[in-house]
Amino acid sequence: MNFELTSSQTEVLETFREFARKKIAPRAAHIDESEEYPRDLFNEMGRMGFLGLPIPEEYGGSGADFVTASLISEEFGKISGGFALSFGAHAYLCAYNMYSLANEAQRQKYLPRLCSGECLGAFALTEPGSGSDSTNLATTAVRKGGDYILNGGKIFITNGSIADIFLVYARTPRGAHSWGVSAFIVEKKFPGFSVGRDIPKIGTKGSPLSELIFNNCRVPVENLLGREGHGVAYMLKGLDIERALLSGLAVGAAQAAFKFALNYAKERRQFGRPIASFQLVQEMLAQMATEIEAARLLVRQACWMLDQKMDITKQASCAKLFCAQMAVRVTQTAMQVLGGYGYCKEFPVERFWRDAALIGIGGGTSEIQKLIIARELIKERPRKVMIAA
Ligand SMILES: Cc1cc2nc3c(=O)[nH]c(=O)nc-3n(C[C@H](O)[C@H](O)[C@H](O)COP(=O)(O)OP(=O)(O)OC[C@H]3O[C@@H](n4cnc5c(N)ncnc54)[C@H](O)[C@@H]3O)c2cc1C
Repeated sequence: MNFELTSSQTEVLETFREFARKKIAPRAAHIDESEEYPRDLFNEMGRMGFLGLPIPEEYGGSGADFVTASLISEEFGKISGGFALSFGAHAYLCAYNMYSLANEAQRQKYLPRLCSGECLGAFALTEPGSGSDSTNLATTAVRKGGDYILNGGKIFITNGSIADIFLVYARTPRGAHSWGVSAFIVEKKFPGFSVGRDIPKIGTKGSPLSELIFNNCRVPVENLLGREGHGVAYMLKGLDIERALLSGLAVGAAQAAFKFALNYAKERRQFGRPIASFQLVQEMLAQMATEIEAARLLVRQACWMLDQKMDITKQASCAKLFCAQMAVRVTQTAMQVLGGYGYCKEFPVERFWRDAALIGIGGGTSEIQKLIIARELIKERPRKVMIAA
């Protein structure tokens, strides 16, 4: 097993790191406080080739691998969880999912605009009545001539109020070999589409969260993605990728909080000594460092497997489950190391803690990850039990 990064992975990471340090980091606190989406930075990321990382160059992407994408997720999570979440919804949930489902004409029409940043993307699955039970959709799509007519509503849609292009799941008639769910490309200008209320949240701020409304929304037949009725399989595959990369964001938030706490512990003096010299503080630092390393390896493994075209359902859920729990534990411990300052807004650690709390909910809750992992374990073929003599 080789843990060394390739020269192209290092190059993309260093380029992003420099951009994030110079352009995103100075605005991260403001993005959190003002809840303003930094569209100018998004546009710049488009020009730099970050918005279509794993999409082939012929469609405007950068043709990078998923290990590279995981490095960027972690780096982004260290700086601004809100902007990182919006980026993920655009680049992976919308653009990459669209790439993997779209026919040639759809790819040519939509991907260059998403990769360049001319258009912003969103992914609309969750509904008021169907969150964890994600295939139980009430939004319907009924074919009428050259259009599908969509009716219903979506909730908790990242980028909902600012996106131009939406990957939407809706219920179509159930067939003998289909679950009756289909995927569509919806443009915000389509008649019958509108954005509902914005939903305030406690973390990942600067990434708008909204309701969407479909009221006899006309979607041309050519905007059906893949085959009618086969949306559940598409949805599950797309969610695997989201889970692996959202886990990278959790590692980033934890790493940033840990680094802050480590430096603080070395400088803060009590009882005439730096608090880092107390073994109870050292225990917190050692535990945090170990958990972050373990989480990073889970993410790296899932993304490496993706690059090998392997099935990552179990690995993605293991990574997401562990990273979500790890990130909350680590960011909270980092607050503890900072004492009173940890609970105040003077330092960014409280922001990382608020950002980290999302990872156990978005992209499927931790409970759902446990169910997926258990299902995958049970269906694995039993191996011969070797009993040592
Ligand atoms: C900030 C944010 C961004 C989001 N972005 C998007 C987006 O861009 N697009 C999108 O489509 N969705 C998005 N979501 C929605 C997200 O995916 C859902 O919130 C999530 O899947 C959980 O669904 P729910 O909120 O309806 O919770 P529920 O499904 O109602 O779950 C409530 C509780 O019950 C538990 N539970 C449910 N079923 C079971 C079960 N079978 N066994 C055990 N426990 C169970 C859950 O684990 C949870 O603890 C976002 C959510 C947030 C908070």
